[in-house]
Amino acid sequence: TRSEKVSPRFLLNPDQEAHALSQAELKKQSMQEVRRSLPIFPYREDLLAAINEHQVLVIEGETGSGKTTQIPQYLMEEGYTNGGMKIGCTQPRRVAAMSVAARVAEEIGVKLGNEVGYSIRFEDCTSERTVLKYMTDGMLLREFLTEPDLASYSVILIDEAHERTLHTDILFGLIKDIARFRPDLKVLVASATLDTERFSSFFDDAPVFRIPGRRFPVDIFYTKAPEADYLDACVVSVLQIHVTQPPGDILVFLTGQEEIEACCELLQERCRRLGSKIAELLVLPIYANLPSDMQAKIFTPTPPGARKVVVATNIAETSLTIDGIIYVIDPGFCKQKSYNARTGMESLIVTPCSRASANQRAGRAGRVAAGKCFRLYTAWAFKHEMEETTVPEIQRTNLGNVVLLLKSLGINDLIHFDFMDPPPHETLVLALEQLYALGALNHLGELTKLGRRMAELPVDPMLSKMILASEQYKCSEEVLTIAAMLSVNNSIFYRPKDKVVHADNARMNFVVPGGDHLVLLNVYTQWVESGFSTQWCYENFIQFRSMRRARDVRDQLEGHKTPPTPNTHIHTKSLLSLTAGYFYHTARLSKGGYKTVKHQQTVYTHPNSSLFEEQPRWLIYHELVFTTKEFMRQVIEIESAWLLEVAPHYYKSKELEDSSNKKMPRKQGKAKEELG
Ligand code: ADP
Ligand code: MG
Repeated sequence: TRSEKVSPRFLLNPDQEAHALSQAELKKQSMQEVRRSLPIFPYREDLLAAINEHQVLVIEGETGSGKTTQIPQYLMEEGYTNGGMKIGCTQPRRVAAMSVAARVAEEIGVKLGNEVGYSIRFEDCTSERTVLKYMTDGMLLREFLTEPDLASYSVILIDEAHERTLHTDILFGLIKDIARFRPDLKVLVASATLDTERFSSFFDDAPVFRIPGRRFPVDIFYTKAPEADYLDACVVSVLQIHVTQPPGDILVFLTGQEEIEACCELLQERCRRLGSKIAELLVLPIYANLPSDMQAKIFTPTPPGARKVVVATNIAETSLTIDGIIYVIDPGFCKQKSYNARTGMESLIVTPCSRASANQRAGRAGRVAAGKCFRLYTAWAFKHEMEETTVPEIQRTNLGNVVLLLKSLGINDLIHFDFMDPPPHETLVLALEQLYALGALNHLGELTKLGRRMAELPVDPMLSKMILASEQYKCSEEVLTIAAMLSVNNSIFYRPKDKVVHADNARMNFVVPGGDHLVLLNVYTQWVESGFSTQWCYENFIQFRSMRRARDVRDQLEGHKTPPTPNTHIHTKSLLSLTAGYFYHTARLSKGGYKTVKHQQTVYTHPNSSLFEEQPRWLIYHELVFTTKEFMRQVIEIESAWLLEVAPHYYKSKELEDSSNKKMPRKQGKAKEELG
């Protein structure tokens, strides 16, 4: 059990007290005054002159200086959107694109989606009138498919360039290329104070415009010994700050939704128990899948007497600026994609963040006043256990998606593509092989008809192949639902701490044979039958918001399907379609767990899976997540024979020999019969 005691963990120096600006003071200023008070404002004219003079400009400025919200407005005011030309501003994160667009629309005084809008996957909040468009870097990449020279844009601002996401890196290469034959296009590369020289040299020594920062000192405290349970340490530290420190809001960095929800619950529970003994503490989460109305809450000013604690993923590192933060709690971890280029296996791993990240996090405490950053690790760990910077995503991810897109843009020579940091050669080769096995490329590496259709779908190659395969198996309705549900999959079942048993029972009621994907299908089907009822969701411990989002995603994907045909044995056919897309993700039962078929890597079914107990011989998983072990999340049961049917160029029957198949003649026979 977690202790109720709020024990001092840090050596606090009483001389370094924080001086928070009062919220009332901030609130009094009108929005225009706030705009004028931002560090970027005094440089408005110089900046516009530099943009006028140079085609490519790198802009460096501290987080919160006004790069994202102000630069596009200055450009609008300067006439860059005359004649309906657009300004595009990319963000690595969906939440940032939405939130910043909303803020700018408010500052200008227009309705979001009119002159100012945003575009993220599965959600287009723009219109004919939109001239300032915030979007994820991935969405701008997709725009190359329909407008290869970005002719409707006068300015592209690649924001948060220091994040070096895969999509941003690919944009660098493509935009550098089109800038050569579009001299009228302005290219701005904005970044926090990191790496700007590299961006400059990549863009043929483009000038760097520096916005001098305004930063208050931040005192950094380390723990004396490593923390065994950093979640618990966070909760204790928050409460400790709350009861011992002067006013000022707290920002906590955790790695993902599950951790954030757990932390928020613990904080709320403890505050409830402490009752009126402590001042009010507002606990607010922020992560990518959080519904947008909940996201907006983090920006509302804290009422006098209370304190706000924002529990965030690294979205709050540089993408979003929350005013009033004085205290930062940094456990020193982040969730990272990692990719094994030999086996082609990708998984999400919680790893120590880089020193650069840690310093960005600390910086968030010093925006409005002197602040404090509590690092839940030792000074030794900071020096010796953390990497200097984060490895660019392009070097640790599957490139299938990007390779397919580049091929669709007619870029065949990927080896000589202008990468800022090239991906490992094996990763490129593996992506080509995988696309070949999926049927997206022919043996010459050229895009096939199927490949072109796959590229048009706004999802990863395996998922798009699964959707397209469902046409052949005549189960598009079901597979589209599964695809949509997978896109929100980790937030469908609601499991409140005080109703765990009820929630688990409710979940069990949805279990159907075949596996987790079919369970998701079953949930959705019942929800449709309930008339998309909120009440039904509530009664069944299903998150209504996630379901609504799944419905939106489904509507968007629907454009790609063939008309439904009356159909029997729909489950088996759905499973076949899934196999056609995800045949790489096959695991076979072996002693104590599962082994992936091609590389013999040991993996386990996730305890949440409907097939956790059942342990079928052959499984296909949707994704791998590494926590305590390598877990397969979302699995279905398949028959090995299906692999030969859907991927004859990838699997040899010898690899799939399985004496145990003979012990299950009933099942084998049944599948054949069903597929007729
Ligand atoms: P940068 O891109 O340089 O990090 P931003 O343009 O994002 O800076 O932020 C500038 C300022 O705008 C922030 O300091 C904050 O005061 C304000 N701001 C930005 N987004 C929001 C929002 N969603 N709600 C309220 N204020 C915001
Ligand atoms: Mg910004």
